[in-house]
Amino acid sequence: MKRVSHLPPIRDQLGRAIKDLRISVMDRCNFRCVYCMPEDKFHPGFKFLPSKERLSFDEMFRLVKIFTKLGVSKIRITGGEPLLRVNLTDFIGDLSTLDRVDDIALTTNGVLLKKYAHELKASGLNRITISLDSIDPDEFRLMTGNRGDIKRVLDGISEAQVAGFEKIKINAVIKRGVNNKNILNMVDYFKDQPVILRFIEYMDVGNINQWQQKETVPSSEIIELISNKWPISPMKENYEGEVASRYIFDDLGTEIGFISSVTNPFCGGCTRARLSSDGKLYNCLFASTGADIKSWIRSGMDDYEIEDRLVSIWRKRDNRYSELRYLKQNDADEEKVEMYYIGG
Ligand code: SAM
Ligand code: SF4
Ligand code: SF4
Repeated sequence: MKRVSHLPPIRDQLGRAIKDLRISVMDRCNFRCVYCMPEDKFHPGFKFLPSKERLSFDEMFRLVKIFTKLGVSKIRITGGEPLLRVNLTDFIGDLSTLDRVDDIALTTNGVLLKKYAHELKASGLNRITISLDSIDPDEFRLMTGNRGDIKRVLDGISEAQVAGFEKIKINAVIKRGVNNKNILNMVDYFKDQPVILRFIEYMDVGNINQWQQKETVPSSEIIELISNKWPISPMKENYEGEVASRYIFDDLGTEIGFISSVTNPFCGGCTRARLSSDGKLYNCLFASTGADIKSWIRSGMDDYEIEDRLVSIWRKRDNRYSELRYLKQNDADEEKVEMYYIGG
């Protein structure tokens, strides 16, 4: 039987094309951030995936090639902590050979960045985002479950700049009562540097963190706090559907951003699919189930069949959790996949 090719854009029920793929390459992490992998749950006896249950890089590469046929051109490598995965730079090198991939980005906690920055640059990685929730060493250590040494992360950022990464993004999740006291100190530290600091609203991802709305500090509150000290003005978005609202410091000309998924959800422009480290495909950060793609691959399914199934999954997609949360139409207690497992 002759096969019909699927030509991008492949659109979901809300008209959104599939453009980005986020791959969690590793479920383990060397931090225990209080809102993501709290130490009491992720204790030394916690059973992470055995390595054979993780997708191999060959399997991921095969999947990425299929996804690119459907319109994916941006790949983000995340985790857990992606730099814990051995031979990651070889995988990035392979991705960079794909004609249809025009952007490869990495999200990391930065601890191992000093070691890998140059190798990452050489492999073809385009962009780096570093998660750093406080500039105060003690508060940072507390946020990371007593594991984070801020000097190592700051050294990693410097090394990445030396290696040639430009416009590095620094993402800070703010949890009220935990790290909101040092917001201005953080802005002060980074505002003159060639990096883009972005504040992220703390979200109800997963169930482990027992999120409560009052713990989220709305971006509007942070913008007001910053503007009272250093005036900032909104900037145009870089591209349609950009998740961060960009602002510029009036006096310095440098940029700062705000990601407001709780108070100003952006599901309407969500073109992202997510692959977990054990090979499940999720349509949304807040999904409770994902398609078990690893079992398709390991049962010998051919590329055409996988492609057909991916198209069918995307065409049925109607997820818009954050919008429904905003409208108070969903159940915050429902089972959801955890962030460390699906990636940010
Ligand atoms: N370990 C890497 C890191 O921290 O950059 C990559 C994975 S981590 C899960 C990706 C991002 O998700 C981090 O920036 C982290 O702060 C963010 N994150 C985790 N839980 C979150 C939550 N409940 N709300 C908002 N962001 C969250
Ligand atoms: Fe690890 Fe990143 Fe989660 Fe922190 S946010 S525990 S660094 S995966
Ligand atoms: Fe995308 Fe789901 Fe987040 Fe909405 S809630 S922006 S659909 S990941």
